[in-house]
Amino acid sequence: MKEARVLYWFRTDLRLHDSPALQAALDLSRPSYTPIFTFDPHYVYHSKGSGNRWQFLLDCQNDLSESITKLNPRSQLFVLREAPQTLLPKLFKAWRITHLVFERDTDAYARARDRAVSDLARTAGVETLTRYGRTLWDSDAVVAQHGGKPTMSIAQLQAAGNKVGPIPTPLDFEQERPDADPDLNAPVRESEFQPYKTGIAGPHGDFRPEVLEELGFPPATTPHRGGETRALRMLDHILADEEYAAKFQKPKTSPAAFEPQSTTLLSPHHHFGSLSPRLFYWRVQDLVSRFKGASTPPESLTGQLLFRDMYFAAQAAIGAPFTQTHNNPHCRFIPWHLPSKVEAGTETGTNAISGEYHVDSLQAERWFQRWKAGLTGFPWIDALMRQLKHDGWIHHLGRHAVACFLTRGGCYVHWERGADVFEEWLLDHEPACNAGNWQWLSCTAFFSQYFRCYSPIAFGQKWDKEGRFVRRWVPELKDLDAKYIYEPWKAPLSALDKAGVRIEGDGGLGGNGKREEGTYPEPMFDFNERRKVCLDAMKTAYQVGIYGDDERVKNGTWREL
Ligand code: FAD
Repeated sequence: MKEARVLYWFRTDLRLHDSPALQAALDLSRPSYTPIFTFDPHYVYHSKGSGNRWQFLLDCQNDLSESITKLNPRSQLFVLREAPQTLLPKLFKAWRITHLVFERDTDAYARARDRAVSDLARTAGVETLTRYGRTLWDSDAVVAQHGGKPTMSIAQLQAAGNKVGPIPTPLDFEQERPDADPDLNAPVRESEFQPYKTGIAGPHGDFRPEVLEELGFPPATTPHRGGETRALRMLDHILADEEYAAKFQKPKTSPAAFEPQSTTLLSPHHHFGSLSPRLFYWRVQDLVSRFKGASTPPESLTGQLLFRDMYFAAQAAIGAPFTQTHNNPHCRFIPWHLPSKVEAGTETGTNAISGEYHVDSLQAERWFQRWKAGLTGFPWIDALMRQLKHDGWIHHLGRHAVACFLTRGGCYVHWERGADVFEEWLLDHEPACNAGNWQWLSCTAFFSQYFRCYSPIAFGQKWDKEGRFVRRWVPELKDLDAKYIYEPWKAPLSALDKAGVRIEGDGGLGGNGKREEGTYPEPMFDFNERRKVCLDAMKTAYQVGIYGDDERVKNGTWREL
């Protein structure tokens, strides 16, 4: 039988365990196998990613490469730098490839790219094989079972998923390991393909994973690092505490917990595919089935993965408009304030629907900038935003707090502005989950109880009376009496003097000059006032009830409503 020469293209599946696509490659007859990763300029140049996420990616590449070399000393992960649409045809030819294999990706750009690449492969006489492995169920199959519509609730996801069939159990790790096949070998590194001549290999021309500086980023600040080995170890550690894993109830986990955090922190591993969601699911399920009093979805650990699948399937159904309001038939249109970088007084962004209040667009922009910088004057919000920027991860309920505050529960700024910041800073940034959760929090899709609003004061107090979390991330307030830690503007001068801090100014971002040393900003607005304004405006917007695909939204005439 003819030998299969496989180009295995790693993208969202940076692991060797439980990888259906990798298994498909290994199932080919007498395969020789070249595992590659290419830095696609679409992500490198268009990405808003911070150094933290790139570091996590490099960690995953290094770990994967080492694992491949352990299995086959002549192989490694071959890292390249070029758009797949132009690189792959060159590799097909140079390495006489017969099969291109990769994990399916339902993100909008990925779908278009993969279609183009599969066409190129066909032209080159290369067979393309794909498998899904990023989610519990195949998102496209879920959509098909849901009448082509997006899954907008866990119940819908479960109903459609059950029609697709049981969630597949993970592949046998040992059986799948490439060294299980004695015929497996990598191509000779330099003989057939000349990296130095083409200039497409990394800076050292040896296809090795790069380091952060070579990608042009400053050192990462996050303590959370990537790699399959680490992910599997984390999973073992989490499951070793059987009571924790079996009785996990998301609403009861604290957003103020740190070192350690109260949830698994496995989301970046799911994003990069260094942990299989099915392995996670079935290992938890196995524990739950033996455990008395275990929690159930949606609050349980397995329930968390169902949320992930729900957003993936919703995105698979809606396509590119899923991550925006414009042209998205499932996203409610809300005439948010229009922050923009205009000079004061040159433009007024008003809420056209209520027409009752006016917020200068420069004002809205300043609120947005202060939110982003962690200088709102609300310590709970600022602590979370600073943790997000530094660590690239915050707890789910912390994400709730800051997202609600920026949108319908404070600033009334468009959710897409917030989603952009999360895209820049999150280690686990996933287009489907990020946009979907922002829509949930802003009550534009998935969730509609806009009258339930998080207080930036009471919510933090509920979890952390002493303000340990705030002290950790807002060191200006570290010595302030717990009585005032969430509302420092209420502290008497004596308490502030004792803590060595003054409450003044706008953090240097509100147009009133620089931030003074030893100060923490005043709150940027009266929260109770803003909550009322937002509630009234949301009520009106819900009454008008138009969606992102409404002609008036698409052509900008919504202002006349
Ligand atoms: P755990 O509670 O331990 O959950 C286990 C796994 O389930 C997670 O690792 C994650 O893969 C998945 N999961 C849990 N909650 C959700 C959820 N609500 N939606 C989707 N998947 C979930 N999650 C992302 O993976 N990427 C994002 O870009 C993202 N953006 C978000 C933006 C906002 C505004 C909000 C409110 C939430 C966002 N989330 C996102 C969802 C959630 O906050 C994170 O998945 C979770 O906090 C990750 O921490 P963990 O791994 O400890 O979660």
